[in-house]
Amino acid sequence: MIIKNVELETVCGITSKLPENIHPEFAFAGKSNVGKSSLINALMNRKSYARTSSQPGKTQTINFYHINDALYYVDLPGYGYAKVTLAVKEKWGKMIENYLQKSPMLKMVFLLIDIRHEPSANDKMMYDWIVHNGYRPVIVATKLDKINRSQIQKHVKMLRTGLGMEKEDVLIPFSAETKQGREEIWELIEGQMAD
Ligand code: GDP
Repeated sequence: MIIKNVELETVCGITSKLPENIHPEFAFAGKSNVGKSSLINALMNRKSYARTSSQPGKTQTINFYHINDALYYVDLPGYGYAKVTLAVKEKWGKMIENYLQKSPMLKMVFLLIDIRHEPSANDKMMYDWIVHNGYRPVIVATKLDKINRSQIQKHVKMLRTGLGMEKEDVLIPFSAETKQGREEIWELIEGQMAD
């Protein structure tokens, strides 16, 4: 798909009402620093649309990016950020869960996991929430360029086992540096749009 137009249309905080969008939504979840902003920017072909972690004041909101007036990327708040209190973490959790439960236009949920590391307890919890809400998460294994080619299969297996993925579930290794995996993600999105 050629990206002609991107607009950050809605930003939802903890108490905000979710938008009633008429276009399909594709959500992206993952722990802070996993590379979510970089992935969203790579999909949009933009350098710095979704704010990256290094920028101060990154807020914990659900951001709806309207793409080509046809679909939405939904940037879910990064979880597992060490510096916040448990109460704040619980609020983010509720916000994400509420979104998963109450979004009729949500077509697909991408869960980002750093390809280098074993999935954390938070990753596993997020995976289970997504499944529990009736979606088969698509795992995007980020920062692919940071491991040796010969290690890829081993790491993919580690992620699949760690999350308890089903055989038929999709895992896409991805690098924001080389853009490997970008087309596969787009194909999945376009496949859902055609349905
Ligand atoms: P977010 O908190 O999940 O939105 O993560 P960011 O997209 O801000 O990325 C966190 C850090 O990881 C930044 O310093 C990025 O430059 C870096 N990063 C993200 N994706 C990749 C990748 O595919 N390869 C490499 N080498 N670095 C990445």
